[in-house]
Amino acid sequence: MIKKRIGILGAMPEEITGIVGLLKNKQEVVKGMRTYYVGTINNIEVVVVFSRWGKVASATTVTHLIVEFGITELFFTGVAGAINPDLNIGDIVIASSLIQHDLDARPIMDRFEIPLLGKTNLCPPKEMLDKAVESIGELLSDESLVHLLSSSQSEIFSVLNPKVVVGQIASGDQFFASHEDKGNLLAILPEVLCVEMEGAAVAQVCFEYNIPYVVIRTISDEANDNSVVNFKEFVSQVASRFGVEIIEKLLKKIAL
Ligand code: SAH
Repeated sequence: MIKKRIGILGAMPEEITGIVGLLKNKQEVVKGMRTYYVGTINNIEVVVVFSRWGKVASATTVTHLIVEFGITELFFTGVAGAINPDLNIGDIVIASSLIQHDLDARPIMDRFEIPLLGKTNLCPPKEMLDKAVESIGELLSDESLVHLLSSSQSEIFSVLNPKVVVGQIASGDQFFASHEDKGNLLAILPEVLCVEMEGAAVAQVCFEYNIPYVVIRTISDEANDNSVVNFKEFVSQVASRFGVEIIEKLLKKIAL
């Protein structure tokens, strides 16, 4: 049997710092402007790295994890802007499908179709998805995520009763920060729950290398004119701490 080696890719540097703090037998490898942290958490071999932002950066980082470090599966966490109006800041979205909203090779291909793969959406394997849904469900039902926050933090960021939602995530090289952009996206992709800048690119690389993966995002903003105001504080005070807790829980599930 191949020994598990989990790649942990985070889109928030603060979250990476938290996860690296959990590593035993830590070693650092610096390559291509990235620092890869190799070690174990709960006796599971892991490689932790900051994805950097955008599709090219994150695809490059995950390729390196697969080819150079031989990871056998990948967890990807980060933040995202809400597109679906039922989502609130602090909610957690697990991708059951991922699409590149800025991929458009018409008229030679369908809109959003990934060249040579003939697919528009990529779907993480069911087993990974089920484990993620179970893990986040447990973290929400025993309130371990909200307990990480002080009452003033919960109030300031309105994170009172976060929920988990499973569905489509859209990725592209664009930060959504206006009602207009959000409306335009919903008009072309009405099923999208949230938008971010890496997930679908990472999913494509994992699909091509046959590496099971899961993409989990905490909603940091509403992808509208308030996005930038809320974003930085939320990431450093809330989302990065949620991210560490989520990764720890996933690692426990995976070890079962
Ligand atoms: N933290 C940086 C900016 C990060 S870039 C800074 O402070 O300057 C944005 C990151 O947040 C990416 O990982 C992207 O995937 C995610 N993200 C969160 N909200 C988003 C939104 N509204 N639109 C696009 N990406 C978003």
